[in-house]
Amino acid sequence: MAACRRLSGASAREVLGPAQGLLFDCDGVLWTGERAVPGAPELLERLSRSGKATFFVSNNSRRSVSELEQRFSRLGFRGVRAEQVFSSALCSALYLRQRLLGAGDDACPGPGRVFVLGGEGLRGELRQAGLRLAGEGDPAGGKDEPPVRAVLVGYDDQFTFAKLSEACGYLRDPQCLLVATDPDPWHLLSDGKCTPGTGSLMAAVETASGRKAVVVGKPNTYMFDCIVERFGVDPSSTLMVGDRLETDILFGKNCGLATVLTLTGVSRLEEAQAYMASESPAAKDLVPNYYVDSIADLIAGLDE
Ligand SMILES: [Mg+2]
Repeated sequence: MAACRRLSGASAREVLGPAQGLLFDCDGVLWTGERAVPGAPELLERLSRSGKATFFVSNNSRRSVSELEQRFSRLGFRGVRAEQVFSSALCSALYLRQRLLGAGDDACPGPGRVFVLGGEGLRGELRQAGLRLAGEGDPAGGKDEPPVRAVLVGYDDQFTFAKLSEACGYLRDPQCLLVATDPDPWHLLSDGKCTPGTGSLMAAVETASGRKAVVVGKPNTYMFDCIVERFGVDPSSTLMVGDRLETDILFGKNCGLATVLTLTGVSRLEEAQAYMASESPAAKDLVPNYYVDSIADLIAGLDE
């Protein structure tokens, strides 16, 4: 059972030594706002020198993978490659490509367009995956276009009642998929205030349409499935490092990974301890195996 044990020095070495790979959440773990967490770039370089695989799993659907790659380098993380990054935007594109453009089996409703609630970063990933988006490239007003076969809910700071209503119109067709990039209810801003997340928009669409969304991002396992498919990662020697118990730590648990909570982001140690003290089995799934004050503490677990 997960024990929420602090990692430092010898205990960090014990845990990191046998690990062959690490998955990191990004916001609140590697950086907060426009500032890298002190020591985080060094940790990633040291992990790479130690021959450990690193992957990045972010629920943030605002940025395309190439924008994320630029962000890594702007914040001082050297040598991170696009193929290591599995954002909810990229994974939603992979999921929808599979469902809409895959072989014509029963699970695949056939070619169709995607109605997107989300920004340019998300839309770019979908186009790159070969998907056609509703409202784009249909000069005949959509008359001769294939039907909308999926509604994708992502982070949309231009969300309106009209868009909600349009989404519900498509979802009246039971063949039309309802997919959400992530369930995050809100996000912390650098001034300590909160901003609504995709989960709040997903709830609006679910309520208005009476449908239930398939969630691509954490805590569901699809992102890890994508990593395993491409890189053949072994869960028993992989760690998941994140700052949010309800998404990152539960995701690690769902994927069979040992989990590390870092305290530079959303969740507090007291919350993890409260879940540990709870009698509910569901609460136990939110307890990390380990915690650190910052991922810089993991450097002590690596050989020179
Ligand atoms: Mg985070």
